[in-house]
Amino acid sequence: MSAPPLLLRLARSRPLALGLLAFAAGAFAADDPIRLPPDTLAQVGAIDTLLAGNYDGTAPLAGLTRYGDFGVGTFDRIDGEMVVLDGVIYQVLGTGAVMRADLAGSTPFAAVCHFQGKALPGELRAIDFAALQRTIDMAYPGENVPLALRVDGRFALVRTRSVPAQQRPYRVLAEVTRTQVEFEAKDVTGTLLGFRLPAFVKGLNSPGYHLHFLSADRSFGGHVLDFEIAAGSAQVQVLSNLFVALPVGKPGPAGDRTGEPPQAGSFQP
Ligand SMILES: [Zn+2]
Repeated sequence: MSAPPLLLRLARSRPLALGLLAFAAGAFAADDPIRLPPDTLAQVGAIDTLLAGNYDGTAPLAGLTRYGDFGVGTFDRIDGEMVVLDGVIYQVLGTGAVMRADLAGSTPFAAVCHFQGKALPGELRAIDFAALQRTIDMAYPGENVPLALRVDGRFALVRTRSVPAQQRPYRVLAEVTRTQVEFEAKDVTGTLLGFRLPAFVKGLNSPGYHLHFLSADRSFGGHVLDFEIAAGSAQVQVLSNLFVALPVGKPGPAGDRTGEPPQAGSFQP
C-alpha cells in the first residue's frame, strides 16, 4: 500500500539529482552565497584536474566575487589569466590584451579571498621574485602558513605570461604552458597579487608562491614569471580556511611513465 508514494518520491528526485551534476560548483552558482568566515580562501576546482586538461568552466564568473574581491585563476578553455583586484575580474588574454571579464563566462579554476592585508613594515626596494619570497618567508615563517600577498609599487621590470584559449581535445597543462606567450614591461606601476600556499594543498591548489600582475593603467598583466620592484609596499593576510567547489567527476592526472602525476608548482594556471 505504500508503493505508489515511494515511486512518486523517486520520480521527483531524479531531476534534482541531474541538476546537482550539471552544477558541480553549485555554491558559486547559487544566488544566495554561503557566508564564509573571514580569512577564507574560496576556490573553484582543483589544480590536479586542471593539469589533466579539464578546461571547461564549472562555475559562473558572476558568482566568484561574492566569495572574494582578490585572487587569481583562469577562464573557460583557459582563455587567459585571471586577476581579481578590488572586486573586479580582469582577463589577460593570450595576446597580452587586458579586459574586464565578461561576467556571463565561467571558470574551471580560480582562488579568491576577501583581502584584508596587514602592511609589511618598511619599503621594498630593488628586489626580485626570489628576494621577495625570502622577505615574506622571514616575516611569516613556517611552511604551513597560507598567505594572501599584495604588493603595490613601481616595477623596473615585470615578466608575465598568458595562454590562448584551447580547443578540444584539450592537451594537458604542461604541454599548453610550453607554448605560452611571454610579455615584458619596464618601468611600470601596478600590483602583484596572489598566494603563498603550503605543500599540503597539493592536488587542490599550487604549493608555494603563485602571483599575477596588473598594471595601474590596466593595460598589462598576467601570470608572473619574474620582476624587479623599484619601490613598493606589501600587504599580507594569513588565511586559515579553505572552501572548495570540487570538480565532481572530472578525471585527474594520468601520470607519466613513472606513474608520477605532474607537479602543480611547475605548471600554474
Ligand atoms: Zn597563474
